[in-house]
Amino acid sequence: MEAVKAPRGTRDILGDESWKWAYVTQMCRNVADDYGYREVHLPIFEHTELFCRGVGETTDVVEKEMYTFTDKGGRSITLRPELTASMVRSYLENEMNKGTQPAKLWSIGPMFRYERPQKGRYRQFVQLDIEALGAQDAFVDLEVIDFSMELYRRLGLSNLQVVLNSVGCPKCRPVYRKALQEYLRPRFDELCDSCKSRFDRNPLRILDCKSPICKEITEGAPSVMDHLCDECKEHFEQLQRGLDKIGAVVKHDKRLVRGLDYYTKTAYEILSGDLGSQNAVCGGGRYDNLAEAIGGPHVPGVGFASGIERVILTMEAQGCSFGRKPENKVYVVAAEPDARLDAMSLMRTLRMNRISADMDYMGRAMKGQMKTAGASAEYACILGMSEVERGVVTLKDLKEGVQEELTVEQIVNKLK
Ligand code: AMP
Repeated sequence: MEAVKAPRGTRDILGDESWKWAYVTQMCRNVADDYGYREVHLPIFEHTELFCRGVGETTDVVEKEMYTFTDKGGRSITLRPELTASMVRSYLENEMNKGTQPAKLWSIGPMFRYERPQKGRYRQFVQLDIEALGAQDAFVDLEVIDFSMELYRRLGLSNLQVVLNSVGCPKCRPVYRKALQEYLRPRFDELCDSCKSRFDRNPLRILDCKSPICKEITEGAPSVMDHLCDECKEHFEQLQRGLDKIGAVVKHDKRLVRGLDYYTKTAYEILSGDLGSQNAVCGGGRYDNLAEAIGGPHVPGVGFASGIERVILTMEAQGCSFGRKPENKVYVVAAEPDARLDAMSLMRTLRMNRISADMDYMGRAMKGQMKTAGASAEYACILGMSEVERGVVTLKDLKEGVQEELTVEQIVNKLK
């Protein structure tokens, strides 16, 4: 019988990689602290209805990609495919509107989407998500974009491009929608099947279709920018003034859409030049009508989500630093079996002084222990019965190859 394997589209993150995750997560935490966002931990599963209403029935995510099941109580449950809807649900449920506005929240954790796996695209993946809820101000949109850029700057990423658009609001979008449909109608028959079905339900999504023919057809399509109402236009211009002020270079792209009614105004993505086809390291924007869509009052909001796998892939491709790889400082070597008890006790003293230490549990002879020490630690603490009797330990610097006899106290002081 073959041993059971992990499901397609999932991956094990093992010790030679997990330290990179710890580094990136810590950096997310640092930036969140500096920008005044507070961490929240939300459930990994929610009522299916939350995503149908909060992500949108006509999106690929809801139509094709959700992990949905009926639990033993007969409820329809879905493993979260994204965090924004959950964040807004939590804001409403916990009455965060009564606290300081905007409520600035962040979280990191696994998301689940039934997509075709490829490099940078998995069925379980980790997102950093930040959301600012309760404010209309375009400078909050600016802060969100700036947060993502600052995170990537601190991680040492380069070769990134920020693409920006506005998708308008329920006031101006219907006019644009109509203009777009009028433009597309003469070539309707040439659109791909998905776009034919989007034509009435969600025509803006045709703009970001990847099929070459749809791309060609939408090339000269009218721009949403030319159809914004005064309020959306002023919001966009204020955001652009802010971006100019902080020296952020962005590219306007009329194809960047979040084609649902509750996504409003700002839409943006940051693309990596080192990722191949799955090149978005983050995506975000404003969703002033999402809270209402899930049954709450009007709560404006803006945020972004960044895929951590893609951030790490880009960092690796660009040779970015992940800080220091954790390594044992000391390997305690028992030169003879009788010295093991004291070796174990020394190891424990080192650990209690926050000096990482390990020893042999496999019955290796001294030569084998020294080999393990050389492969895994900076120093060896060698302990034979003669050392035990004299109350000393031989400390060997494995990089320099030099050694000296010291007391335990001297070793602790030296290595701490
Ligand atoms: P979205 O919610 O689709 O805008 O995704 C936000 C970010 O999550 C993207 O920019 C990617 O970095 C990441 N992401 C989305 N889907 C996946 C996936 N299937 N595998 C890995 N990362 C993903």
